[in-house]
Amino acid sequence: MIKHVVITGGSGFIGSHLIARLLPLGFKITNIDITNPRTLTTVATSLYQHTQDLEYLPGDFRNRLVIRSALEKADAVIHLAGSYNNGAEAIQTNSYGSRFIFRELARHSHHLKKVIVASTSQVYGEGEHCCSACELSFFGTRKTSDLEQKKFDVHCPRCGSPAIGLANNEENGRAPSSVFAKSMAAVEDTASEFAFHTGVSTTILRYFNVFGSGDWRNNPGKEILADIHQNLLNKQHIILPEFGNCSRDFIHVFDAVEITLTCLLADLPELTLLNVGSGNARLVWEAAEELSDICGIRGKSLQTSAFTPGEPRSSYAETSQLKKLLGFKPRTNFRQGLEELTRYSGIMVDAA
Ligand SMILES: [Zn+2]
Repeated sequence: MIKHVVITGGSGFIGSHLIARLLPLGFKITNIDITNPRTLTTVATSLYQHTQDLEYLPGDFRNRLVIRSALEKADAVIHLAGSYNNGAEAIQTNSYGSRFIFRELARHSHHLKKVIVASTSQVYGEGEHCCSACELSFFGTRKTSDLEQKKFDVHCPRCGSPAIGLANNEENGRAPSSVFAKSMAAVEDTASEFAFHTGVSTTILRYFNVFGSGDWRNNPGKEILADIHQNLLNKQHIILPEFGNCSRDFIHVFDAVEITLTCLLADLPELTLLNVGSGNARLVWEAAEELSDICGIRGKSLQTSAFTPGEPRSSYAETSQLKKLLGFKPRTNFRQGLEELTRYSGIMVDAA
């Protein structure tokens, strides 16, 4: 039975919601993070004062002393820490960092019952597309030279017509196209090797666009709804790249946490790959409209031809594995999720 869970990156957005969910269930938790959660105002901050079951261990997960002392008593590890950076820092923290932490996990594999690793939907790159005219399905690509000419659609390699983005399926392979996405693919590969060599049940979770209250990451462009919300509150223009016509799979953090918790408790095979998404593709401009409607603030949307190389045109999750393995269906619909995001926005900010 799993009693003691080590969480890396537990001060972050998903981590703090996860801790708030796990503690009342009786788990003992050690949060390893470089950011002291007590300097923040997240959903989990107040819990540190009220329970012996939650411990904060300051430091980087790549610090040998820190990770070793935490792992001594762990039954399970949830590795959420990483870098969203799209350069050398991602390679250092994610690619090399995962090699380090999994080597340490292997030393403790005799008493670890479960390892869960955060990955990202970005490992799919543009993902699978199909052309209805040619009845052809293929992995999409977009050239920066096309994006510069405002040609944002993925085109059929045979007839050149715009192709339709399909749901990203866990079994269909990956096509990471940014440094960040490639660094996360490396994390997945290291986790798979670990599972193969140690036999410890390992689950790789590919989080899609997780949103909700307490997303204090000061990382413009990383979670689009948090950005839009911040701009609405600050009465700034909302910049919608690719004329707002790219689509994303938005999943509320409560559902993302529920999936993570279910994986922790479920009897899963040696290696499991799972999408953490709602299964719905939503146009970014529509999401922005709905959010400004709920906020009651008419933001000025600027639908621009800006783009970020490596960001996909369309992205949504195939969720049949979630249903099959975990019996999971998302509980928070998009509008309820947005309401939760705005309701707590006032207090869920960095108080440091
Ligand atoms: Zn075609």
